[in-house]
Amino acid sequence: MRKKIVAGNWKMNCDIAHTYELLDQLKERALNEDVEVIVAPPFTNLQSANQALIDSDILVAAQNMHQATNGAYTGEVSADMLKGVGIETVILGHSERRAYFHEDNALLAKKVTTALEKEMTAIFCFGEELEDRTSGNHFNLVASQLKEGLFHIEAADWKDVVLAYEPVWAIGTGETASPEQAQEMHAFVRKTITEAYSEDIANDVSILYGGSVKPANAAEIFGKPDVDGGLIGGAALDAESFAAIINAFE
Ligand code: PEP
Repeated sequence: MRKKIVAGNWKMNCDIAHTYELLDQLKERALNEDVEVIVAPPFTNLQSANQALIDSDILVAAQNMHQATNGAYTGEVSADMLKGVGIETVILGHSERRAYFHEDNALLAKKVTTALEKEMTAIFCFGEELEDRTSGNHFNLVASQLKEGLFHIEAADWKDVVLAYEPVWAIGTGETASPEQAQEMHAFVRKTITEAYSEDIANDVSILYGGSVKPANAAEIFGKPDVDGGLIGGAALDAESFAAIINAFE
């Protein structure tokens, strides 16, 4: 049975005071217990966030990590460093990492391998740009992101993978993929995984949708059969909105 998950990607927002404030506000709210809730603050606040959530079911994830285990990589953070402060989950391949930090599928494949070798859960993000969608190339593009970035993993490793379909044209733009567009792509992803691995693996992996999810549209998107939750950007920075999205599941 796949899990329902709502993850908040805080990006480069929230200093330490704001982190504590937002987490306190979240902890005060009643959250749907059927949903695994994850927050991803910046690196500097991961350990504090984890400690602040010690008496809560909310999990803390990193937004990125380096593929090497250690070494001369100024400014980078390794899987062991994350695990050392209690972080077991990492977002990989977010479109902002792909666009601004030139992370391509080959690099992401290495990051995925490292995360899984270190027994972390990888939230693997993918999704097409607007021009891929308008030219009708979106299915091919997504298939190649999956094949080149992820499909080198062993069947047994899928238990530690969560997928996040995030059409780039819908991230931070206020433009949301329609629930039907999200469902269509999520079903395509399951079909692609079935062909490469098995129907069981395809059915067991949680596929989140991300792109301008708000309290007003979450229920309709999460109501689609192949949508198992959301990766939330802007709306995750407001406790009331984030809680409403978590509680939008039927
Ligand atoms: C994201 O950055 O992953 C995201 C989905 O952002 P937003 O919800 O703000 O569109």
